[in-house]
Amino acid sequence: MFIGIDDTDSRKKFCTTYLATLIYEELKKSYTLNIPKLIRLNPMVKYKTRGNGGVCIEILDDLEKRDKEEVREITIKFVEKYSDLSSDQTNPGIVFLDREKFKENREILRNYYKEALFNILSLEYAEKVIKRVGGGFIKFKKGLGIIGALGAISSEPPYTYELLAYRKKENWGKRREIDERSVIEMDRKTFPYTFDNYDYENEKVLITPNTPCPVLFGIRGINIKTLIDAYFMVKGEKPERFMIFKTNHGTDVHLRVMKIRDIYPNTGVIVYGKVSEKPRDIEGGHVIFKLSDDTGNIDCIAYEPTKGFRETIRKLIPGDFVAVYGTVREEPLTINIEKIKILKLEKIYRLNKRCPHCGGTLKAKGKKVGYKCKRCKKVIKYEEIEKEEIKRDLKIGFYEVPGVARRHLSKPIQLIDLIK
Ligand code: ATP
Repeated sequence: MFIGIDDTDSRKKFCTTYLATLIYEELKKSYTLNIPKLIRLNPMVKYKTRGNGGVCIEILDDLEKRDKEEVREITIKFVEKYSDLSSDQTNPGIVFLDREKFKENREILRNYYKEALFNILSLEYAEKVIKRVGGGFIKFKKGLGIIGALGAISSEPPYTYELLAYRKKENWGKRREIDERSVIEMDRKTFPYTFDNYDYENEKVLITPNTPCPVLFGIRGINIKTLIDAYFMVKGEKPERFMIFKTNHGTDVHLRVMKIRDIYPNTGVIVYGKVSEKPRDIEGGHVIFKLSDDTGNIDCIAYEPTKGFRETIRKLIPGDFVAVYGTVREEPLTINIEKIKILKLEKIYRLNKRCPHCGGTLKAKGKKVGYKCKRCKKVIKYEEIEKEEIKRDLKIGFYEVPGVARRHLSKPIQLIDLIK
């Protein structure tokens, strides 16, 4: 049996992963469980609390009717106790699905996962799919959580992992005391198998959240063993418990290759095209440029919080061939750049203004005439002027926003060859 849960917390209180951990610990007493999942869905969903994540717990045993009832009761009891039902924006949802139904409907669920990553779905649509695959759901208040709950159940590889360490209750809301140097050391020792631990450009610890939730820190990585080693390297406040989740963090599953003509708002794209207008700085410290392919053009933007990444964007020139990775903002329609792959750099030249006859300085006399040497007075045609290639201050390859500005789902460059 699969149990999906979402939309239980608010910015002020609780965390759906903490709730999942408590339910997991309770169910573990009687059942065999798979590793729980923490699945992020479309990051463009407006009413998300933080990172649009839902959770899924899978019971591996064959369940009797009585067991199923017990599982439902336990889940509901915990969701009621650990959801911030007083917050307007918290609308919990639980989805139950039997393992046989999951297997029978794998294709429908796979599709739903893609839709939940790429599109904005309605509550009615999620209900329809749950009924179609033979699942059950419980809605609290508006029950919007069932959209993400089904998304978490439906997910498929690629996966990474996150070890989430939780705080003792008496520490909730207080400052997190984590030794920065121990995080840097942990990062260095476990690279490249853990990611997004520390932002070296902005000197910022990334494993601790900023909200008053029960999470002390979260370490992301591509294998469980390294995560456990990393956990013991972090010094500071002692966690009360930890849980390892299978996740889609750092996988880029929210992006897919699209032609500019087909792009629509609130989705994730990878667009291959040529820079068609020089990047320019706009108000607020953002940098914007136009990208074109054979179907149209679209503005791409590196926002101020992407800090040093904007320097790379500023160095692009018309003619450069790139792939832009990012999500599409509605108004105005622009791609918010998460990462860029520079595939081909336009060549730029400087005219050699030395006279080929005497080495004197050449002076422009208009396109028709060409250049005239100031010293020997000889005329050199425009086409005959020697051109020297200027070395570009950019290299072919990937460039990404710093860790502080990275989305949960964005694949860091260090993982490009590690996760396919
Ligand atoms: P947390 O990560 O702390 O649990 P969150 O950022 O996941 O919080 P939620 O409070 O869960 O935010 O709110 C996100 C809401 O969006 C949930 O109700 C979820 O069901 C819903 N949702 C998820 N994916 C989609 C989608 N593709 N379209 C529409 N709604 C979605």
